[in-house]
Amino acid sequence: MPALRKTPFVLALFAGLLLGCQPAPTEYRTTLLSFGTLIEITFWGVEKDKANEVIKEVEKDLKFMHNAWHAWQPGPMSRINELLQTTAPFSANPSVLGPIIRARELAIASDHLFNPAISELIGLWGFHSDDLPHGPPPPADKIRSLVAQNPRMADITINDVRMQSRNPHVKLDLGGVAKGYGVDQIITLLKHRGINNAIVNAGGDLKAIGRHGDRPWKVGIQDPRKKGAVLAMVEALDGESVFTSGNYERFYDYQGHRYHHIIDPRTGYPAAGSSSVTVICPDATTADAAATALFVAGPKDWQRIARQMGISTVMLVDEQGKIYITPEMQARVSFIEPPASLQVSKAK
Ligand code: ADP
Ligand code: MG
Repeated sequence: MPALRKTPFVLALFAGLLLGCQPAPTEYRTTLLSFGTLIEITFWGVEKDKANEVIKEVEKDLKFMHNAWHAWQPGPMSRINELLQTTAPFSANPSVLGPIIRARELAIASDHLFNPAISELIGLWGFHSDDLPHGPPPPADKIRSLVAQNPRMADITINDVRMQSRNPHVKLDLGGVAKGYGVDQIITLLKHRGINNAIVNAGGDLKAIGRHGDRPWKVGIQDPRKKGAVLAMVEALDGESVFTSGNYERFYDYQGHRYHHIIDPRTGYPAAGSSSVTVICPDATTADAAATALFVAGPKDWQRIARQMGISTVMLVDEQGKIYITPEMQARVSFIEPPASLQVSKAK
């Protein structure tokens, strides 16, 4: 009978339809602890087994970078700091060369407002500890004398693996750029493993590749003046990094004054004027250093430094809550609540 003869075909068609309807692998999300922060990694459209396998590699790489670049625990970085102090030439451990070379370029482009050579100052403020400092700020004369030593990345020369500092007070702290460099490395690893739709979010600093299914990745920008609240949403497009530096990340209060972890190398004190700076650009290393540099530059000087660093998509929230934004950033963000005070101006 024709109807019966057709049965296997109909069954096959039905089975095929069922298979087709099976949910394709969609979102996979996991959280790792590294660089002193929670790192959330999300993939789209990756099989669970493959995702787990790649995450194991990511975890290993993060651990390696964290140990190699740590600013105050003994390791390759502390050894480099000992050798820089001697002002004699030496061969640097290659595991730290990559971020140091990039940090040097970015420091020079920022007129040394991003200055990872001021580790002595950051240590004096007590930020070289897992616990936050407390009590009065360091004595003013000690701060003044460290500022007068004028340690800068330009004091370092790097030729292949040979490194030398001409200033014994150059001591490196890559805290302002390590997360960005690490995120770039992890995204490169994901791409090598064939993962093309992912987002790596290190405590609100992130880089995205591809899309979240049929829409772009969407992320929130923290409101620097309201703990845990989102100021605005933004789409992170393929290959874009979104980095924010804020005075709410690591700080302590003493006698009604807030002392936070982003130090103005010109004064030796926590940078005044900004509450947070958000930067969008392709390279996460650049975004990280630029967010720190523009935070230090503050409401008066951020446009000049942004221009010098090749950054056009910026938002700065000042200490009073006024928002300075470039047209490029304004076109990208949607504020949760309309800002009370907003000034649109280009990087210049
Ligand atoms: P976050 O993303 O946590 O706000 P940043 O990327 O702005 O942090 O980096 C802040 C860290 O960078 C500090 O904890 C310190 O280690 C280091 N740092 C502080 N001031 C400067 C500066 N002017 N230039 C470069 N690094 C800095
Ligand atoms: Mg930074």
